[in-house]
Amino acid sequence: MDTQELVLVTGAGGFIGGHLVAELKRRGHEQIRAVDIKPLGRWYQEHKGVENVSADLREKDACYAVSDGAPCVFNLAADMGGMGFIETHKADCMVSVLINTNMLLAARDLGVQHFLFGSSACVYNGERQSSPEVTALREADAYPALPEDGYGWEKLFSERMCRHFMEDYGISVRAPRFHNVYGPHGTYDGGREKAPAAICRKVIQAQLDETGTIEIWGDGLQTRSFTYIDDTISGVLQIMEQEVTEPVNLGSSQLVTINELVDIVEGIAGVKLERSYRLDAPQGVRGRNSDNTLILERLGWEPSTPLELGLEKTYTWIHDQITSGVRDKAALASS
Ligand code: NAD
Repeated sequence: MDTQELVLVTGAGGFIGGHLVAELKRRGHEQIRAVDIKPLGRWYQEHKGVENVSADLREKDACYAVSDGAPCVFNLAADMGGMGFIETHKADCMVSVLINTNMLLAARDLGVQHFLFGSSACVYNGERQSSPEVTALREADAYPALPEDGYGWEKLFSERMCRHFMEDYGISVRAPRFHNVYGPHGTYDGGREKAPAAICRKVIQAQLDETGTIEIWGDGLQTRSFTYIDDTISGVLQIMEQEVTEPVNLGSSQLVTINELVDIVEGIAGVKLERSYRLDAPQGVRGRNSDNTLILERLGWEPSTPLELGLEKTYTWIHDQITSGVRDKAALASS
């Protein structure tokens, strides 16, 4: 990527987008256009020296306006959240198809050369994720299609739309499938938070309130891998630069149960809490891990930040947020 050329990041007021803009700035990009539907002042990170734009990218005109003059697009805008959000907002999640459709049309008509779409591990067939003893998911396991209802179907459809825009109109596309990204400057409360941030918050709150207990969604035996934000950003930029045009897993392969995730956070906090399991809460699939054969083949690289290290940084940030009295309003997303 040419550091003199305009780069567009959508969803830049969000978690991954905010970190991506920071890294592009660090790498010397001089023209960055950062776009989000949230009003300025409510972004997780608002970077100086960047053209920060508040716009609703479900609208076609807005997509054309922000794409103008940008040869390289990172399209990360989506109405999304953790399981608590996507299981109860399926229609809202699917409406993100308007963002992806209008952004691709704008890319076609305005001569965008490189277009990255933030896909998800939620595209994978649910029947391959019904046991905690998982076989890590290979890219081909998205078919036959049975993705996460609502959110996953939209992601799978938009991935395919990217492919056809490449075949029919020559736009060079990318579709990293993110696996449970976590880190500082993301949502930790309010309904859109994901498991790592939620567990950190609950452990901190249990200490502050001296309850001695923690509520866990499900029986705690469900398995996942979690990817630290720095690995995600590094992977996104490598996938863009190395022109990996097919969907590719961008995820850690360090598999843990939710109970083990809680063990790690308790270890960081230096507490042991009594666990109460809420079996009726949203939990998503039973087990999921990332098979990294393809990304290793393409990049000679895979995410490697140990969960213990990434969680320590995340925990510290959330702890500071909660105890300093200057809670980041953006990270307290309301649904
Ligand atoms: P996020 O919710 O923090 O960021 C998404 C941003 O998009 C938000 O700031 C939101 O305001 C913005 N947005 C929503 N609707 C918009 C609209 N109509 N116009 C403009 N902006 C709009 O989420 P994130 O974790 O940063 O995720 C970024 C992308 O990666 C999303 O596409 C998401 O689906 C995908 N993804 C994330 C994860 C993860 O674990 N974080 C996993 C899989 C896929």
